[in-house]
Amino acid sequence: MEKNVFIAAGSNQGDRELNLLRAVAEIGKLPGTRLTSLSSFYETEPVGPVVQGDFFNAVFRLETEISPAQLLAELQKIETDVFRRQRTEQWGPRPMDLDILFYGCLTMNEPDLVIPHPRLHERRFVLVPLSEIAPDFVHPLFGKTVSELLAALPDGERVMRI
Ligand code: ADP
Ligand code: MG
Repeated sequence: MEKNVFIAAGSNQGDRELNLLRAVAEIGKLPGTRLTSLSSFYETEPVGPVVQGDFFNAVFRLETEISPAQLLAELQKIETDVFRRQRTEQWGPRPMDLDILFYGCLTMNEPDLVIPHPRLHERRFVLVPLSEIAPDFVHPLFGKTVSELLAALPDGERVMRI
């Protein structure tokens, strides 16, 4: 069983707080999986080229027996079936986005699944909640802790604990 699986959740459509709570509940129901930690919720400014509303973000830690590929499939099923997410514009508004940040110390680079998540180290909206629950977790490719990655980030978009 892998005990250090981290998932980032983000929502900027609908009831964002309720959506995060719903995501927690749905992930907790996955087979062979237990939620072991949950960050605070944060309101964050969107990053990237698309003009859209602020997000609510959080990070979860899991223990799981399911493989990375199966976990991605389960998360996408939750995005689509529970949240009715339409896969249209990349980086556009969405009721729920679930990304795999780390799967223990595993690294992989497949067309549809890259672990660690390739942009986590440049995203304040990920590193702030992640550092709350796993400040000392070491990024398997960079050899730096989550706190070190956060400290190395320049000031950027607003990330406010709610
Ligand atoms: P984004 O999260 O970048 O805003 P999407 O949620 O639409 O965009 O994801 C686009 C694709 O990213 C997914 O189809 C998935 O195959 C791929 N992907 C690659 N690595 C990961 C990862 N670590 N976690 C989640 N999705 C990933
Ligand atoms: Mg995603």
